[in-house]
Order: sequence, then structure tokens, then C-alpha cells
Amino acid sequence: MERVDVAIVGGGPAGLSAAVMLGRCCRRVVVIDAGDQRNRKALALHGFLSRDGIGPADLLRAARADIEQYPTVELRAGRVAEITGARGTFKVRTEDGATVEARRVLLATGVTDVVPKIAGIAELFGRSVHHCPHCDAYEYAGKPVGVYGHGTAGREAALAILAWTDDVVLLTDGHTVAARDRERLEAQGIAVRTERIARFTGRDGQLDRVEFATGRPLRRTGLFLATGQREQCGLAEELGCELTPAGVVKTEDHQSTRVPGVYVAGDASTGEQMVVVAAAEGTMAAVKIHASLWEEDLRHRRAARQRRSNRSPQGSARQP
Ligand SMILES: Cc1cc2nc3c(=O)[nH]c(=O)nc-3n(C[C@H](O)[C@H](O)[C@H](O)COP(=O)(O)OP(=O)(O)OC[C@H]3O[C@@H](n4cnc5c(N)ncnc54)[C@H](O)[C@@H]3O)c2cc1C
Repeated sequence: MERVDVAIVGGGPAGLSAAVMLGRCCRRVVVIDAGDQRNRKALALHGFLSRDGIGPADLLRAARADIEQYPTVELRAGRVAEITGARGTFKVRTEDGATVEARRVLLATGVTDVVPKIAGIAELFGRSVHHCPHCDAYEYAGKPVGVYGHGTAGREAALAILAWTDDVVLLTDGHTVAARDRERLEAQGIAVRTERIARFTGRDGQLDRVEFATGRPLRRTGLFLATGQREQCGLAEELGCELTPAGVVKTEDHQSTRVPGVYVAGDASTGEQMVVVAAAEGTMAAVKIHASLWEEDLRHRRAARQRRSNRSPQGSARQP
């Protein structure tokens, strides 16, 4: 069976960043990626110093080109179905049945956003329907914006958007709003529409209006979702990693988890969910993984030298 130092599951910013650093440490690495990066539908990504506004596909291309410089790193398309074994001898099996043995595993598998099943929204997601104000609200400064959600999440998301625009309407899609929440929202000038939503309309990815099952339509140029997310895959849980109440993996020093030899970086781990953070976490994990492998390697080197010296005539002379 093929054996590598590190198997990285996921080839988004976290996984690729780790791969570059491990390549620079001369580690044998395989990156297995299903190609479903969270922001692949976004027009542009923001907030990554020196890359502000770059298209997600362009960033991936540049990252993959970086990796090509490191001959010990291999990128493979595929989906990991199962990981068994333990630190030192993990068996990483892909859906096509291929298995690779890895001394360490880095999960950089990301999360996926919950997008409500409403007509028109899928075509707009990532272009004028977003979930992260830090990433995308700047483009809507002073413009009419909707926030889709209910309960505490909906209320807090609507209040947060006020930092960019005063024209905010909370759309609860049939959910009632507690009197205290309504009072708090209206005190900040946020209108609330509780009717069921029939469809979102727009052209070329640009939201134009919200149509309700009953009641007059509403013009909006942008929409922010407060609908949550889920892990892209259950590998971390199956390996025994602990999840936080938010549903991501609890990580500790340098992206380590409570499972020896398993590291998690990027959106799938605790911490801000942003490209630059995912990339940084990938690097941190790589540094830690290399250090833990190097400790083992030093022990093996020492033992090998000892064996050699015991076999040599001088070594034998020293034997009692
Ligand atoms: C519409 C949108 C816009 C965004 N805009 C911004 C922005 O402007 N700025 C910003 O900083 N952030 C932005 N983000 C957030 C950003 O996308 C994430 O923070 C970032 O992608 C996290 O990187 P990652 O490597 O952790 O995960 P991802 O990029 O999601 O990559 C995870 C990879 O793992 C793969 N994978 C999962 N399971 C398996 C498996 N079992 N086997 C093999 N591969 C697997 C997936 O297919 C995927 O390719 C945006 C997100 C969205 C949805």
C-alpha cells in the first residue's frame, strides 16, 4: 500500500496552504479533494490581503501552481469515504476504493451553507445572496438589503447589517417574531416581513425583488442568509473528534484535536471562517504536523545509527 507522511483531505485554502508548507518540509503528502470549495459560486473573495477581489477559481489556480513546485506533494481528485487506523498508520480510503496509508491526517474539509429551497435563490447565491457580512456587505453600503432568517439568528443578522446600510428588512418566511425582538428591530429602523416567500427574482445573478405568497413584493439589491451551515463530511466525527455546539470540530494547539495524529484546519475547525484564516490554520497545522513527525524521525535516525554502529567492527569492539 502507498505510504505517505500526511494525507490532507480537502483542497481548499486550508488544505492547499498546509500542502505548500509540508512540501517545503520535504514531506510526502497527498491532497485528496472532492472539488466542492465553499465559495466556488462567489463572484469575488474579499479580505485576503493582497488578493482582495480575486475570483475564487483564480485563487485556487494560483495555489495549485504553488504546489506544483514541490515534487513530494501530490494533488488527487476524489472523495475520501473512510479513515481508519491510528496515528502512524491511518488508512485513508477514497470512494473509488483506493487506499493510502498516512502517518498523520489533516482534515480541511470545510462546511457547506444551508440555502433555503426557494425558487430563484440558487441562481443568486454567491452573487447577490450571501451569508457573511464581513465578506460581502461592503458592496451593499447604503443599499436596500434583506436578511433571511428567524429567531435569534435572524434578529442578530439583521442588526449586524446596519453597520453597512440603514435600509434593512428582516424576512422570516412564515415564522412569527417575538414581540421583544420586533420591538428591538423596529427601534433600530428595521422592518419585518413575516409572509411566506414565493420566489426571489433577478437577472444575471443580481437580486431585484422578493415575491411573497401574499402581500406586495419588495425591492432588494442584496440578501444575507442567517440559515446556518453543516460540515461537508462526517470524517472528523467518525474518527472521534469532538464537535462544538456550532457543529465544527473543537481544535486546540496548532489545529490538533483530541484524536492523536488528526488535525483539522479551515472552516471545519473552530475559528473565524474566512479564506485568509483557513490558509493560516493550514500553515499552523503543517508546522505542528512536521514537528511531531520530526520527533519520530529523529528517534528512528538515532536507532538506525545505533544499529549501524553495533554492526560495525568498532561497534562490536565496544560490546561487552
Ligand atoms: C458565497 C461565499 C462567499 C464567500 N466569500 C468570502 C470572502 O469574500 N472572503 C473570505 O475570506 N471568505 C469568504 N467565504 C468563506 C470561504 O469560502 C471559506 O472560509 C473558505 O473556503 C474555507 O476554506 P477551507 O479550505 O476550510 O474549505 P473549502 O474552501 O470549503 O474547501 C474544502 C474542500 O474539501 C473538500 N472535501 C470535503 N469533504 C471531502 C472528502 N470527504 N473527501 C475529499 N474532499 C472533501 C471539498 O470538496 C472542498 O473542495 C465565502 C463563502 C461563501 C459560501
